[in-house]
Amino acid sequence: WAKADGKARWTLFDPERNAHRMTRQALASTLRPAIERDEFVLEYQPLVCMEDGRLRGVEALVRWNHPQFGMLTPNRFIGLAEEDGSIVQLGRWVLATACRQARQWQLDHPDEPPIFVSVNVAVRQVWDSDLVADVAEILAETGLEPQLLQLELTESAVMGSAGRPLQALQALSDMGVGIAIDDFGTGYSNLAYLSRLPVSVLKLDGSFVRGFQYEGEGVPPNPADEVVVEAMIQLAHRLGLTVTAECVETSAQAARLRRIGCDTGQGWLYSRPVPPDRISGLLGLVVR
Ligand code: C2E
Ligand code: MG
Ligand code: MG
Ligand code: MG
Repeated sequence: WAKADGKARWTLFDPERNAHRMTRQALASTLRPAIERDEFVLEYQPLVCMEDGRLRGVEALVRWNHPQFGMLTPNRFIGLAEEDGSIVQLGRWVLATACRQARQWQLDHPDEPPIFVSVNVAVRQVWDSDLVADVAEILAETGLEPQLLQLELTESAVMGSAGRPLQALQALSDMGVGIAIDDFGTGYSNLAYLSRLPVSVLKLDGSFVRGFQYEGEGVPPNPADEVVVEAMIQLAHRLGLTVTAECVETSAQAARLRRIGCDTGQGWLYSRPVPPDRISGLLGLVVR
């Protein structure tokens, strides 16, 4: 029991919740210095062509190598960084690091077809920073071709985007940078609207693929999922978009996704997110 705010009232003291709140505060207050101290690292997860099983690209995923709390996944700090605006600085670091790495793979393996790198972009990076200028500068500095960079934005970041965000997307797309809609299907999806934006890829949210979670024959837990996904893929293709499925964990899921026309797969079946040197070993290989 603890006394709340010095008032004559007693509230239940939950040590776990308190620890969580303290950690949150500790993390929030050290975000900016941590960027300067270089405490963030990127892992890369393969994006695999479903038809030939080859590595086509990777998604860059940020981790915080925290001196006190150890390796933290983004769900612990991206929200905080969005709240206090440090996501703009962190996002710029992620972009620059990922582009430099993609160029390095290309230089280290000149005989293999180059792979693209896909980078998550937060809404605030589109609104509160000059994303277009940052991307142009980073591409020029690293020497990475724009065609080898893809940006992942969520539906909520682009839906109803008029003015500034739409201009930014258009400018990036004109530059040759690919735009993907992340976690597609979780928001107020409007494919007709999306098709009018300069978007080239839909990343189907993992929750759809999870409905396929059964091995071999038999009745899937949610048979409707497969019907919905197949229809979404067909519609996306007719609108000129390609489709990537997230969270592909089993070969049965991959087989079904391939059969219904999904272009690219990402998930533990192929590889977990790994450090950059592990990606070098996968270049030119059939990952399936
Ligand atoms: P996301 O962009 O949808 O990334 C995919 C997430 O799914 C990653 O989690 C990845 O590790 C996980 N995943 C991949 N394959 C599988 C699978 O087969 N099964 C399951 N259960 N999960 C799988 P992670 O790395 O924890 O990242 C979580 C989210 O944090 C990302 O979701 C993205 O929204 C955000 N994020 C990561 N890096 C950045 C970044 O640099 N900037 C911004 N703004 N957000 C980022
Ligand atoms: Mg993503
Ligand atoms: Mg995603
Ligand atoms: Mg997701």
